Amino acid sequence: MSTADVDVDVVIVGAGPAGLSAGLNLARSMHSVLIFDANRPRNAATLSSNGFLSRDGISPLELRKLGLAEIEKYPDTAFQPALVESIRRSKSGTFVVVASGLRGSAARTSVTCSIVVLASGLTEVLPDLPSIYHFYGTSLHSCLVCDAFEKRGQALALIGETNDLAERAVLISRWTDDLIVFTNGVGVVTSRDEHSLADRGIRVIREPIADVEGGRGGMTGVRLDSGEVIARVGGFVRPEYVANIGFAEELGVKRDANGLIEVDGYGRTSVPWVYAAGDITPPGPKQLIIAAGAGAMVAGGISRDEYLGISGPWAAVGAGAGPVGAGAAPVGESSAPGKSARTR
Ligand SMILES: Cc1cc2nc3c(=O)[nH]c(=O)nc-3n(C[C@H](O)[C@H](O)[C@H](O)COP(=O)(O)OP(=O)(O)OC[C@H]3O[C@@H](n4cnc5c(N)ncnc54)[C@H](O)[C@@H]3O)c2cc1C
Repeated sequence: MSTADVDVDVVIVGAGPAGLSAGLNLARSMHSVLIFDANRPRNAATLSSNGFLSRDGISPLELRKLGLAEIEKYPDTAFQPALVESIRRSKSGTFVVVASGLRGSAARTSVTCSIVVLASGLTEVLPDLPSIYHFYGTSLHSCLVCDAFEKRGQALALIGETNDLAERAVLISRWTDDLIVFTNGVGVVTSRDEHSLADRGIRVIREPIADVEGGRGGMTGVRLDSGEVIARVGGFVRPEYVANIGFAEELGVKRDANGLIEVDGYGRTSVPWVYAAGDITPPGPKQLIIAAGAGAMVAGGISRDEYLGISGPWAAVGAGAGPVGAGAAPVGESSAPGKSARTR
């Protein structure tokens, strides 16, 4: 174990609900915390966030503002709008996090810490249609439980290029009986599935799409390559998702077949003292309250690992020497590699 001083106990990458909730609970567990955020939350496209208990319908920006304000009440917490560019492990076992300022600022920060929490979320890629992002988050959505209630009973589209469109369509039919599936000539719907969708009154259009049509008032239809416009007032898309993890490649955390960071129940990754929470962990895109819950679990896991010794996946890689007793200061191989001067 290194006894090297670090600038801060924990660096959190991402100020979405996962990172903020980890930050809040870590601050309450006597950690110094620095949160970096690149200000690109995935839900920025929408005006209201639904389904977060006690905050149903709140604007995503407001939710973030409230979360940050709560964290900043605690001593030894800081938020820095910046893009994390790299994280590497130093010889002493601590982490060196390099981040650059936002909006073209040349300012660059290098910070050392004992523990890293990856909560940088996902980037979604929608089918390549000229106007689709214009309607995303208002007329078109991706999460059913988040947004289908407001679309109930309407003439909806499901647009996607994946092979799970039939299943998705059946799920959407809970909210409307006027649904058309658009495969854009790419998405897979077997003829068997097409027949069972037809039995439910759901049509499948396989022709490539030229664009989504509409104006300020919202979406009005889907224009096919042939020029035909199918009237639709909104609906759902099936994005592809990419984990925002390029900056942490050097750490070598284990990822699943979809590129998501594998974690145990406490958010431990395959690399000791690196934790992950939120949409960046399997099964991928979820909901705000789930990401927030995962962040809280990570904070609990970190405190356990510091004071009770490492167990779980890291014991196998020789990073832990077993429990050292509740309330004891971190000692031996099982303790975090450094402690910030501020919290000593
Ligand atoms: C359009 C839309 C609408 C949604 N509506 C709802 C809803 O109504 N209800 C609901 O419960 N869920 C909704 N969701 C889902 C919800 O937004 C996500 O599940 C949730 O935000 C995931 O939280 P997270 O903390 O894991 O990631 P995010 O909220 O995506 O936060 C990740 C943060 O990490 C930052 N980041 C990424 N890379 C870096 C880097 N290199 N350096 C610094 N910072 C970085 C990003 O800027 C971002 O702020 C919606 C999603 C979308 C796309």
